[in-house]
Amino acid sequence: MAGSKFAYVKKFELPDALLPNMFMVFRLDGHSFHRFSDQHGFTKPNDLRALQLMDHAAKSVMEEYKDISLAFGESDEYSFLLRKSTALYNRRQAKIVSTLTSLFTSCYVFHWPKYFPDLPLQYPPSFDGRIVLYPSQQEVRDYFAWRQADTHINNLYNTVFWALVQQGGQTTTEAHATLRGTISKDKHEILFSRFEINYDKIDPRYRKGSVLVRVETPEAPALDSSAQVDVLSTIPDDSSKRKKARAVRTHLELLHCDLIRDEFWDKYAHLLEQ
Ligand code: ATP
Ligand code: ATP
Ligand code: MG
Ligand code: MG
Ligand code: MG
Ligand code: MG
Ligand code: MG
Repeated sequence: MAGSKFAYVKKFELPDALLPNMFMVFRLDGHSFHRFSDQHGFTKPNDLRALQLMDHAAKSVMEEYKDISLAFGESDEYSFLLRKSTALYNRRQAKIVSTLTSLFTSCYVFHWPKYFPDLPLQYPPSFDGRIVLYPSQQEVRDYFAWRQADTHINNLYNTVFWALVQQGGQTTTEAHATLRGTISKDKHEILFSRFEINYDKIDPRYRKGSVLVRVETPEAPALDSSAQVDVLSTIPDDSSKRKKARAVRTHLELLHCDLIRDEFWDKYAHLLEQ
């Protein structure tokens, strides 16, 4: 098909396939959510409804894109791990980033009223998106450790900051001044001695962020399951049919657990497989 004489302009489009056999981490972050959270009266330091809405949008993205094995969310951001071998959109970077960012954003808007029933959106929110490639499991682990360490640092700061303002009667300027130069130990101490808050007792959702893992659904017991197993056992182990049959039997779990120590990665070793 020759097309019109104008079709040559298509050739100016550059290929942007991402390197094969590399882990893809896709991260999105709310654009100007400092302002967005102000204008929508988010509770400080942590608005539970807003975090649950982020989790819901992330879960919807993972339901649509089965090659995402793991996701981590905090504040206005979410990171998604795509399998090394994913052939999603022939690994075209712009295509993946733009479709996933757009789906997440539309889910965020679509489900907004469930979490903020009395507060209509004041203006349309947007998110930026990017993909970073990592060559090995070690960098992927360190990437998620980096985001969770960030959650911890920010949440500790914000928890003390808002305690000083909301319970301690300080202005935001005074609270910033109080915290200037303090280390983690000092912040725990301020929380405990002035406000009787034991930081380690705060809901892990806020301290650890949100972890969405894709896990295999155990075989259903009794009659149905034996039929299923029979069907599967007739398909060769490495066939795409079998992989598909397997892929169907996964579900998503939302956790608020540690991602830095070995336990998580030992328990969910399959998340880093091909
Ligand atoms: P995708 O939407 O799958 O990411 P795309 O945007 O390149 O890829 P389409 O949206 O299906 O593809 O097509 C865009 C337009 O460009 C279509 O109208 C199609 O006719 C035209 N087009 C696509 N590829 C070529 C090509 N190689 N040469 C000339 N025209 C093309
Ligand atoms: P940028 O466009 O560069 O990302 P930003 O204003 O979104 O700018 P971030 O560093 O992404 O800056 O920080 C997001 C801000 O959104 C937080 O600092 C916090 O004020 C607010 N925010 C996001 N989620 C919540 C939440 N669940 N509860 C309370 N505040 C939140
Ligand atoms: Mg930022
Ligand atoms: Mg932001
Ligand atoms: Mg952010
Ligand atoms: Mg198109
Ligand atoms: Mg088109």
